[in-house]
Amino acid sequence: MQQGKPPKTWFQCIECRARYPINSIIYRCKACRSLLEVQHDMQELRRRDASEWKKLFQQRYKSTQWPYGSGVWGKKEWVLPDIDDANIVSLYEGDTNLFWAERLGKQIGLDDLWVKLCGNSHSGSFKDLGMTVLVSMVRQMIAEGAPLQAVACASTGDTSAALAVYCAAAGIPAIVLLPRGKISTAQLAQPLANGALVLSLDTDFDGCMRVVQEITEDETIYLANSMNSLRIEGQKTVGIEIVQQFDWHVPDVIVIPGGNLGNVSALGSGLTMMKDLGLIDRLPRIVVAQAQRANPLYRAYLKNFEVVEPMQAETTLASAIQIGNPVSMAKAIRTLRQFDGMVLDATERELADAAALGDRTGMYNDPHTGVALAVLIKLVQAKKIARTDRVVVISTANGLKFTDFKVGYHEGKLGFEGVHRNRPIELAPNVAAVKTALQKVLEARR
Ligand SMILES: *Cc1c(COP(=O)(O)O)cnc(C)c1O
Ligand SMILES: [Zn+2]
Repeated sequence: MQQGKPPKTWFQCIECRARYPINSIIYRCKACRSLLEVQHDMQELRRRDASEWKKLFQQRYKSTQWPYGSGVWGKKEWVLPDIDDANIVSLYEGDTNLFWAERLGKQIGLDDLWVKLCGNSHSGSFKDLGMTVLVSMVRQMIAEGAPLQAVACASTGDTSAALAVYCAAAGIPAIVLLPRGKISTAQLAQPLANGALVLSLDTDFDGCMRVVQEITEDETIYLANSMNSLRIEGQKTVGIEIVQQFDWHVPDVIVIPGGNLGNVSALGSGLTMMKDLGLIDRLPRIVVAQAQRANPLYRAYLKNFEVVEPMQAETTLASAIQIGNPVSMAKAIRTLRQFDGMVLDATERELADAAALGDRTGMYNDPHTGVALAVLIKLVQAKKIARTDRVVVISTANGLKFTDFKVGYHEGKLGFEGVHRNRPIELAPNVAAVKTALQKVLEARR
């Protein structure tokens, strides 16, 4: 922190508004145990007007000016201004491509469907956005003399991969707690490759989360889960980036898959900040998509958020959102109220077929993007989303991390017959056999 100057950011309790310094080791309010959020000195940020902010962000966009070419650090003043550039641990995350999914849109009844490919990122998921911020802050605290020995998280696979990558880049020890047998092969390989201490526990994510919260009560081990609101500050850039990529025009609807629910609040927080600072004058609707087997937010939504209960999550292909007791439930509800939000869920078959349908139009979807697409299809069919609406689906991870899911689908081993199943034709290595096979296929197409 710059000595002597007033801080530009601080942690603030979402309930009682108590404040704590941004470099303190704290995850919940000491007074009332509620979640914290990072607050910014908005007066300070208003010293630049909206057009100046746009110009600054545009200048930095994808530049090589370290660290401002990063999609996250290009917005440093809005994310974590109280950090020395020298402590930033960046792998040039963010600024992922947003593309017009024209063919898929036509097939499902939308003229203006866009997909934000957040999985085209360093560790293959959008968790990189928040992890760069958290690990940078850890490096800063260590530089200031904080007695931190390691950073730890519970994970459904992507948080641990991101934590392991950023800690390896910074030379800080990482500890990851994973539910045994409940993540993909790639997701287990990632933290191992990056040298993290990998603890595989015979429980689910919620069980790992309980353990890591106790372990990190020892202040020398820092908690990297999204309960730590530093992560949210990085994740919130995704919404800002989408608007920037549309030349500062706001889409009508943004669909995001939700598990622990930090990200829906992050999405809302970035957009709210843009509106507060005059860069946009309206907000999109936000849709949270959940797997039916882990849908506590959907259940609460059906009851107008008057009854909010954790559940026992069941095994789902959408393993990164297999969470029954989301830490950020309260923040997500607040965001949905503010953004005229909708919540819907998808069955295993729906999510797998929707992912595969997208693949047939040139995507390579992970199961979570499948959940988002399945929910979108249902909302269009129900006319809750209009054909002409500009819709953005946030694709949260790279399909290459979920080879088990893809192979299972096309081999028909997921317990149902996928509509878009495709199998290799095994043939003798000769021209006649190949010609016969081609003829059959081409005739079938006619
Ligand atoms: C983490 C994650 C999500 C959900 O984000 P939450 O903040 O936990 O709701 C969705 N998709 C993927 C691939 C993820 O890794
Ligand atoms: Zn409080």
